[in-house]
Amino acid sequence: MAPTPVPEPEWPVPRLSLRIEDLAHPGASIFLEAVNPLKALRAAVIASFTWLYTPATVPKKLAHSSCPRHAVHTLTLILRHMPGVAHATGGVNNKEIHFSLDYIAKSAGRARHEIQGVLTHETVHCFQYNALDSCPGGLIEGVADYVRLRTGFDPPHWKQKGGDDWDAGYETTAYFLAWLEERYGDGTVQELNARLNGVPYDARIFKRTTGRPVAKLWRIYCAHLEERGSQQRVD
Ligand SMILES: [Zn+2]
Repeated sequence: MAPTPVPEPEWPVPRLSLRIEDLAHPGASIFLEAVNPLKALRAAVIASFTWLYTPATVPKKLAHSSCPRHAVHTLTLILRHMPGVAHATGGVNNKEIHFSLDYIAKSAGRARHEIQGVLTHETVHCFQYNALDSCPGGLIEGVADYVRLRTGFDPPHWKQKGGDDWDAGYETTAYFLAWLEERYGDGTVQELNARLNGVPYDARIFKRTTGRPVAKLWRIYCAHLEERGSQQRVD
């Protein structure tokens, strides 16, 4: 007998909207040719829920963070002329993602992949917990890039790196989080995110989740990277 298909969780996707401030900008046509705006934004929202929260259908005692953020009613993507790449802003109920048309124009060679990657990163900022704004920026950026990594929209220049700081942010922290998820089991990053909900940041969330303090985890991770690097050199 064929297994019963598992129904897709019904995530609380907010109303999605798009504003393009300069339709004549080359980045605008590259964007519209590369992605379907509704599908791209929806996928970014679903990715944020999937990797940071547990669907309501999972029994509460098994869920790390069963309730994604229902508070966000609208998510607006604004494509405009601006320096840099993108940022997320807005209040509790209404979020905005500002995305640079100039940057999109420069990414023409791999527009679809890069647009989806940036949208995923910024959308995570709209839904992740941030320890009442006291979470280190490196962890906030690391979680956003962790979701980008898990959805396969990581850019080709990303590399796993060790070094002094586990919270250097972006892909450095993202790969560290992915390693924690692999080593300590599915839901580890969900649990870390859940421990940033409504309380000030405390680095002991890593020990509470994995049994080890973050400095120790980072040392084990760096040793693992070194070992893997020397094995690759031997091969
Ligand atoms: Zn960011």
